[in-house]
Amino acid sequence: MRILRLRHGGIDYWAQEVDSGTARLLDGAPYLGGKVTDRFVPLRPESLLVPVTPSKIVCVGRNYRDHAKELGHEVPKEPLLFLKPPSALLAPFAPIELPKESERVEHEGELTVVIGARLRRASREEASTAIFAVTAGNDVTARDLQRRDVQFTRGKGFDTFCPVGSTLETDPGPLAELRVITRVDGVERQNGSVADMIWPVDVLLAFISDVMTLWPGDIVLTGTPAGVGPLVAGSSVTVQIGPSGPTLENPVILDPRTTA
Ligand code: ZN
Repeated sequence: MRILRLRHGGIDYWAQEVDSGTARLLDGAPYLGGKVTDRFVPLRPESLLVPVTPSKIVCVGRNYRDHAKELGHEVPKEPLLFLKPPSALLAPFAPIELPKESERVEHEGELTVVIGARLRRASREEASTAIFAVTAGNDVTARDLQRRDVQFTRGKGFDTFCPVGSTLETDPGPLAELRVITRVDGVERQNGSVADMIWPVDVLLAFISDVMTLWPGDIVLTGTPAGVGPLVAGSSVTVQIGPSGPTLENPVILDPRTTA
């Protein structure tokens, strides 16, 4: 099942994708027990919202060997965790804004996991069971600021630096059979297999839950494969969870707050 969130008649709803032009409204967040209703509404790209409302966004750095290598890093001995603020979330088709503080903003296409049950000091099995859905995420990064700062907060935390969506896939099949494919203006930049993760998703979720309780609706961006590269104004970036999972598309613009 594919879940999305949209604005209809000025009100925000979760909904189930029926076909490319139709959605069926839910009566609440699906990971909190929301059920389908009898209301069907038109599905338009411009009405899509971020399909999840997380209390926190947990990210994993250097979870693919080839990506750690391309940035000149050793493979870490434990998962490397950081957070992005929920204010960075960006809806499908909404523009990523390049901030004036950075001269090098890059895409990081990532398999993104949506939590469906509270996890605290969970086992790998409990973690697997608690996955509600997967979606596509883009861990947009101001690489120059990330390198300059000890903490990743600024380089990873600008408004619009966390596009997520466009839909939540609740039946993704075995995660190790998925791929993360990023394209800029249609040209493939990243194409990595989830099977090549250093720490698989269940290990990551259990590890994170030893530190902080994961709540339903929280999301985890599980690291990016090799091929990260710059984003420039006027381009368009797409992250697809292959072979047939959610696709997330966002244009890139200069930050209008600094060009006005
Ligand atoms: Zn990342």
